Amino acid sequence: MRMKSIASGSSGNSIYVGSDSAHLLIDTGVSKKRIEEGLKELGLTGNDLSGILLTHEHSDHVQGLGVFLRKYQIPVYATQGTIDAVCRMKNLGVFDTSLLTPISNEERFTIGDIGVLAIKTSHDAADPVAYRFESGDVSTAVVTDLGEYNDYIIDSLKGLSGVFIEANHDVRMLETGPYPYELKQRILGRKGHLSNEASGRLLSVLLNDKMKHVFLSHLSHENNMPELAYEAVRLEIEMSDNEYHGDDFPIDIAYRDRPGMTVEV
Ligand SMILES: [Zn+2]
Ligand SMILES: [Zn+2]
Repeated sequence: MRMKSIASGSSGNSIYVGSDSAHLLIDTGVSKKRIEEGLKELGLTGNDLSGILLTHEHSDHVQGLGVFLRKYQIPVYATQGTIDAVCRMKNLGVFDTSLLTPISNEERFTIGDIGVLAIKTSHDAADPVAYRFESGDVSTAVVTDLGEYNDYIIDSLKGLSGVFIEANHDVRMLETGPYPYELKQRILGRKGHLSNEASGRLLSVLLNDKMKHVFLSHLSHENNMPELAYEAVRLEIEMSDNEYHGDDFPIDIAYRDRPGMTVEV
């Protein structure tokens, strides 16, 4: 499978995951133009997409949806809660809501040759999910926007070959930074975002011999820095009691303001 971040961070998210015959876009939280530019690096256009999957309705994940669907009639998969919330968002403008297809975390479904599993996450949205993708014996996942993780999430993410995993903030930067108290509490809370340390701990239990590439994702602009995220995650892997070391796997950053490299796993 191929993996590529088009944009990732608190200001906008859109990630590509695909096989030879199916091309999926996870979230449309940046402009149509930026999505088109990212797809172009893959040799694709919007018309080549097999489906769009939404994780949840926060604007950094859906703000480009209306404009994109007015140009490209691509089926959109999301939980019913996310669909209802998206349909209430006036700022997305008018688009063909018949493209919205409800999915549930209880049932795997397929788009082309890619099996898709939605995984419920703990986040302050209507019905948020992460996604696992399977093609042949390769599995990848997009796991961002979650305040905490549990055994269900860990079990759902076993045996991955590649993952986009949230490393949202450095706790000290957030605590001493400029955000208002309520927002800090929200981000740090059970329905907020994973810190660098929590990201490293989750990654430590997901590492396996098949893992080929890790992208630290959804980094906060105000409360994190790529080097901090990278070092904190590597340290957690070193400190964990699994057999792996921080430099056993390529760990890259999915950037906020530009597409990342295209990786084949
Ligand atoms: Zn987000
Ligand atoms: Zn969110």
